[in-house]
Amino acid sequence: MAKPTTTRPLRPATLLVRGGTQRSSMDETAEALFLTSGFVYDSAEQAEATFNGTVTHWQYSRFGNPTVAMLEDRLAALEGAEACRMTATGMAAIHASMLSHLKTGDRVVASRALFGSCHWIVSTLLPRYGIEGVFVDGPDLAQWEAALSTPTALVLLETPSNPMLQLVDLPAVAELAHKAGAIVVVDNVFATPLLQKPLELGADVVVYSCTKHMDGQGRVLGGAVLGSKKWVEEVLQPFTRNTGPALSPFNAWVILKGLETLHLRVPAMCRSAAEVADFLAARPEVAKALYPMRADHPQQALAKRLMSDGGTLCTFDLAGGKEAAFKFCNALQLIDVSNNLGDSKSMVTHPATTTHMRIGAEERAKLGITDGTIRLSVGLEDVADIIEDLAGALDATH
Ligand SMILES: *Cc1c(COP(=O)(O)O)cnc(C)c1O
Repeated sequence: MAKPTTTRPLRPATLLVRGGTQRSSMDETAEALFLTSGFVYDSAEQAEATFNGTVTHWQYSRFGNPTVAMLEDRLAALEGAEACRMTATGMAAIHASMLSHLKTGDRVVASRALFGSCHWIVSTLLPRYGIEGVFVDGPDLAQWEAALSTPTALVLLETPSNPMLQLVDLPAVAELAHKAGAIVVVDNVFATPLLQKPLELGADVVVYSCTKHMDGQGRVLGGAVLGSKKWVEEVLQPFTRNTGPALSPFNAWVILKGLETLHLRVPAMCRSAAEVADFLAARPEVAKALYPMRADHPQQALAKRLMSDGGTLCTFDLAGGKEAAFKFCNALQLIDVSNNLGDSKSMVTHPATTTHMRIGAEERAKLGITDGTIRLSVGLEDVADIIEDLAGALDATH
C-alpha cells in the first residue's frame, strides 16, 4: 500500500476526494475494497513480530482493515483530528467513546437535547454501572456552570440538537468542563464536519453517525470517533478492539465514495433548507419555523459564531397540533415520511410519535417538542419541487 503524497496542504474539497487514499500494488484509481476478515503472514516469525508490536502488519478486520483505514485517515484529515476510529453505527461510536473513558463512580453531564438513544445511554445504561448522569438545558450556561461545579468525567452534547435545533455555547461549556476534569464529547451530526469544527471550539472528541450526510444516500450505517492520537490509541482503541463494534469494509467503501461529494451536497442542501425555512415561516399554518441562521432563531448570534452555515434541517410547529401534523405528513406527495436525515431525499418526521416518543411528554415539553412539531431534512431535489410539495400539504391541513 502506498500513500500518494503532495508537498502542499490540501483544502477540504480535495481531502474529501483524495484524503487517506492508499494504492495497492494493482495501481487502481478508486479506493480498493478489501472485503476480508483476516490477513496472512509470510511466516510464524512474522505473525509473532506482528503480535508483539515489532512489525506493522494487518492482523484482523476487527482491529483494522485497509479500506476502513483509508476512511479513518480521510475523516481525520478533514476534521483536523490526530486520529479517527470507525464503528459500525453512530450509536456504537457514542457508546464506545463514553464506555471506553468511564468507570464506576464517575459522573457525566449532558445536554438534555440528545438523540433518543444517547439520552437512554446517559439516563438508563450508565446508572446500571454506577455512573451518574446529569441533564442540563443546553442553551442555559448557568445550568452548565452549576452542574460542572462538581468533579465530572465526561460532558456529552449535541449542537445543533435534534430536533429543535438548539445550540450550545461550546467554547464556554468546554472551559467549564475542563475545569471540572471532564473531556467534552460532541455529537456533530447536524452540523457535519463542513459547517462546524468542534475540536477548534474546545471539544476533545467528535462523534459522527456516518449514516447521515456522509453516506447521505440512504445505503449504509456507520460511525466515527475523532480525537487526539493519545486518547484514541490508549483509551478508545483497547475498548473497540476487544468489544468489536468494527465497521464493515464494504460500508467503509460506500462512505468513502459518499464523502467525495459531501462538499457539493451539504452546501446545496443548506441553501434549500434556508429557502424552505423562509417559505414555511411566512405560511399562516406554521406557528414557528426554526433554522439556525434565521433572524428569529433565539440563538442566531451563537449560530453565526459556531457554524459557517445553518445546516440541512428545518424544524417547524403546526398550529393545529397532532391532527394537523398527520394530515400534513400524509398529504406530501414527494417528501418521504421517514426518521432518517441528512439524505439526498427530503424527509419529514413527527418526533412526538416516533424518534422522541419514548422520552415521554414531560421531557418533550422541556425540549419544546409539541404534538405539532415536524422535523424536515431537506434533500437534493429541486427546491421549487420541495416547496410546492410543502405548500400542497399545508393546504391540506385545513
Ligand atoms: C442518527 C444519529 C445518531 C445515531 O446514529 P446511527 O448511525 O443511527 O447509529 C446519533 N446522533 C445523532 C444526532 C443522529 O442524528
